[in-house]
Amino acid sequence: MNEANPAPRAAVSLRAVFSPAQWALWSQRPRFVVYCLTIESVVVVATMIYIRAMVVSSHHVIILATLLGLGVLQAELGRTVERVRRRVNGTPHINMTSVWTFAGVLLLPPPLVGALVASLYLHLAVRSWYRLRRVPAYRTVFNGALAILTCYVAHGALAIMQIPTIDAAIDAEWAGVGAVGVGILIYFVTGAIVVVPGLRTRSRTLRALFGGWGENGLELATLCLGALLGLALTTMTLAAGLLIIPPMLMLHRQVLIRQLEAAAARDDKTGLWNTRGWHSIAAGVLTKAERSTRSTFCLLMIDIDFFKKINDTYGHLIGDLVLKAVANQLSDSVRDYDAVARFGGEEFVVLLPDVDEIDGLAVAERIRTRVEQMTVPIYEDGSDVIVTTIDKLSVSIGVAVYPTAGNAIQPVLQAADRALLDAKQAGRNRVVVAA
Ligand code: GH3
Ligand code: MG
Ligand code: MG
Repeated sequence: MNEANPAPRAAVSLRAVFSPAQWALWSQRPRFVVYCLTIESVVVVATMIYIRAMVVSSHHVIILATLLGLGVLQAELGRTVERVRRRVNGTPHINMTSVWTFAGVLLLPPPLVGALVASLYLHLAVRSWYRLRRVPAYRTVFNGALAILTCYVAHGALAIMQIPTIDAAIDAEWAGVGAVGVGILIYFVTGAIVVVPGLRTRSRTLRALFGGWGENGLELATLCLGALLGLALTTMTLAAGLLIIPPMLMLHRQVLIRQLEAAAARDDKTGLWNTRGWHSIAAGVLTKAERSTRSTFCLLMIDIDFFKKINDTYGHLIGDLVLKAVANQLSDSVRDYDAVARFGGEEFVVLLPDVDEIDGLAVAERIRTRVEQMTVPIYEDGSDVIVTTIDKLSVSIGVAVYPTAGNAIQPVLQAADRALLDAKQAGRNRVVVAA
């Protein structure tokens, strides 16, 4: 299940949890507070409506206890992996509870699915998340409410398709498989969408809003395993549920490895490629360019002008926000497959495959003008209130083209660096092409 990133380092004390006036929720953006309370109210009302029509058997209670037991077991065995994942991951986070909650959707009346989600989230909050980043209680409640809402939507969709339980799906044969597949997709899409209004990111890229392929693939895989778990618990003895634990732990670990690999190629502060990640892309572009005599690529070496003054005036933390804003501007000003990296400090490199000198110069000019026109709003912590805006930024850019400037990455980089130095010496806020 997706969840919004927690606000770091908000204190949680039991007394504060039981004193509504002290809730950290009230210090959040009004729009978020409204969204949070709306979702929670919808979940409470829907649960009450469901409870009035609910028929619970002792078998349901046993299934609930089984799913909860398996969920707690998996969370306990995967705690170390989960903590590392949370530390390296900045995108919306998939927490893998969907395997239990989706099986619950197929096996239990909705209010018991709600109880399952609430218990699993409480356990995770206490055992895995709280210690790591002191996730405030309102975040856990909000994420739990989003998960319950997602389960209710999936349950409603299955009921509309007249496959309300796994038994009905088994009886319906092919139609049953199709309905469970559609149920998985509806759960997946609903879970991805409801989390978006609660995200703290101001970026509007699809990746920032919905996460990468790895995270989404994990959510889909988890849901598929949830459907198989539902099937196993219906057709075999409940102990068969234990068979799901090893694949879940391995999946968890594999995803962590992929996340660590991806994180090792990225710059922490800006999310751009770091030197290592950029060089590995550049090596691929060079190999491709070497195969054809007419192939070319362009490098831009970019340095923010008088950046020290920004640090001196506003402090390093605001300097970092400006750095990130410039980084976003660079990414937004080039194509998806151009590689933008932070090489260190306030220095960036952009690789433009299949771009010649004339087009490279045009891209550099576009970046220069856009940075010149930027205003960077600085917000009060955790709110929409703008404390100050920073403008009058500028960058100097050195441009070098393969193979004119050299026949490998290093000489082209050096040529772009020399051109950048010329741009600085000529007065800054300008583009210079390597001679
Ligand atoms: P110039 O126009 O010659 O480039 O002037 P400048 O002040 O930008 O250049 P200089 O290289 O003298 O200073 C760069 C400054 O960037 C110094 C350092 O404090 C700051 N800096 C480097 N990395 C970071 C960072 O990660 N965050 C912040 N806030 N500042 C950084
Ligand atoms: Mg500088
Ligand atoms: Mg510099």
